[in-house]
Amino acid sequence: MVENLLTMGGAILFVSYFIPSVVAAVRDHKYMGAVMALNILLGWTFLGWVVALVWSMMGKNENNQMTIINNGDAIKIVKCNHCGEGVDSRVKACYFCQKEQ
Ligand SMILES: [Zn+2]
Repeated sequence: MVENLLTMGGAILFVSYFIPSVVAAVRDHKYMGAVMALNILLGWTFLGWVVALVWSMMGKNENNQMTIINNGDAIKIVKCNHCGEGVDSRVKACYFCQKEQ
């Protein structure tokens, strides 16, 4: 019984240890590799784990997408590669700088 609890606790700790890496992977983090390295190499210091977790949650999603609902249509807004303005993902040229996406 006690051994089972210890095994379970160990499994939970083991899974928890990699939470920063999982968060970074799910968010497609810009520095995912660095977050994972910090997590794995310094996670055991707890401070390293906290830093990795905070870091994994920082920064905007690089693809910067946003979806708006217009009359029931979901329109995906993406950032223009040239001027950075938000444009409808279905259009070929940016409304603002007229460059092709
Ligand atoms: Zn543009």
